[in-house]
Amino acid sequence: MSSYTVINPADETEVTVVAHLDVDATDDAVRRAVAAQRLWAVVSPADKALVLRRFAEAVDGDRENLARIEVTNSGHPITQARWEAGHVRDVLTYYSGAPERLFGRQIPVAGGLDVTFHEPLGVVGVITPWNFPMTIAAWGFAPALAAGNAVLLKPAEWTPLSSIRLGELALAAGLPDGLFQVLPGRGSVVGERFVTHPSVRKVVFTGSTAVGKRIMAGCADQVKRVTLELGGKSANIVFADSDLEKAAATAPSGVFENAGQDCCARSRILVQRSVYDRFMELLEPAVAGVRVGDPAEEATEMGPLVSADHLASVTGYVPEGSPVAFRGSAPEGPGFWFPPTVLTPDSRTDRRVTEEIFGPVVTVLPFEDEADAVRLANDTEYGLSGSIWTRDVGRAIRVARLIESGNLSVNSHSSVRYSTPFGGFKQSGLGRELGPDAPLSFTDTKNVFIAVD
Ligand code: NAP
Ligand code: MG
Repeated sequence: MSSYTVINPADETEVTVVAHLDVDATDDAVRRAVAAQRLWAVVSPADKALVLRRFAEAVDGDRENLARIEVTNSGHPITQARWEAGHVRDVLTYYSGAPERLFGRQIPVAGGLDVTFHEPLGVVGVITPWNFPMTIAAWGFAPALAAGNAVLLKPAEWTPLSSIRLGELALAAGLPDGLFQVLPGRGSVVGERFVTHPSVRKVVFTGSTAVGKRIMAGCADQVKRVTLELGGKSANIVFADSDLEKAAATAPSGVFENAGQDCCARSRILVQRSVYDRFMELLEPAVAGVRVGDPAEEATEMGPLVSADHLASVTGYVPEGSPVAFRGSAPEGPGFWFPPTVLTPDSRTDRRVTEEIFGPVVTVLPFEDEADAVRLANDTEYGLSGSIWTRDVGRAIRVARLIESGNLSVNSHSSVRYSTPFGGFKQSGLGRELGPDAPLSFTDTKNVFIAVD
């Protein structure tokens, strides 16, 4: 069996070696999941809810440990990692209410009673990326389990450790054996097998648009259900009538959080030309003020990039001679460090403006008026998130309705709440996660007519 050596991205030390599953081991896991799901589907709604609440409590009790694991494996700042562990607990708590609320409908028809049921799909395969390992996993497994499915979770090779721990916590909390299994391995082996195995009835994939398209094409062969959460290149639109101080002070957190390794990163700042110079004056100290350093330190706001490979990829976007307006700081020495970087390309088609860099690099472009801002914001194949800064309520609503994107915020950069739907327009994805309807996407609707005569 192959394996992967996990490296701490902050100091490049070896953390541990994780054994990888091969296709046979994946098939064994699917068999166990099929058996477990049959039993889980007939557990009473109240008992399903109880087990999920116990899982949430187990996560809560292990929050500090889960957070430390993410610091070591992924280089996330400790305060952020604690939030992530708490978020997993909250997602589980939220969806523990779902088994008892998975309502069908009673539809008026002639000659009988017509009712619908939301039946579980069976086994669901969840494939996660390395940028937010445990939160993104929870968005898949919590509503899927709540809707009566078994879940197989394949974490990204680089960041399997918090997912493995969640698998242990689930068992300790009393989830039936085999119902939720974490399967470390390669995307091309374990992930691919989710696509081809006939007993895996849905694939939830979060990752790059390129791999997502491949998965969607593969799933077509069995008409397999699929949810895709893919890339982004989101706009942060700053109008002249906004609170410019606040827009500039918060712009770094809108893009540099998690070192820019965030599908929702507002990596294109668009500023109305009349306030462009003033905005840049205000942005410079805000970028200089981002505290970049040891992710285990409480005060750290930005840690390293996840891996040497990824550092090389991000560095490739900022070669010698790039239009750098200003940069923040980064530690010297070992670790995959890259400073917050602000670019001012003179072209709207510069590849730094159009491609997802997935690192702490942001471009700033001027725009003329509302129509130009909308055109520029939509001039991308992606459509995941975005922000609109203005004091004009009418403009905020007009622009929000015109931006082709799944998650927008006005005068803030918030995008993910477990109680509201999340997902992308265009090539940023297909389907929605989170919010009250997520469990339904792990079911098929069954219509039953009962004759009365
Ligand atoms: P990636 O390379 O597409 O990998 C994502 C996952 O897919 C990993 O677990 C990977 O396994 C697996 N995989 C790779 N090839 C596969 C195949 N042929 N069949 C099945 N699975 C396969 O993405 P990434 O580099 O980890 O993550 C960064 C991307 O994710 C960015 O584009 C980002 O925008 C996107 N993202 C989107 C969201 C969202 O909610 N929309 C959230 C976070 C990230 P290995 O680890 O073995 O490669
Ligand atoms: Mg990859």
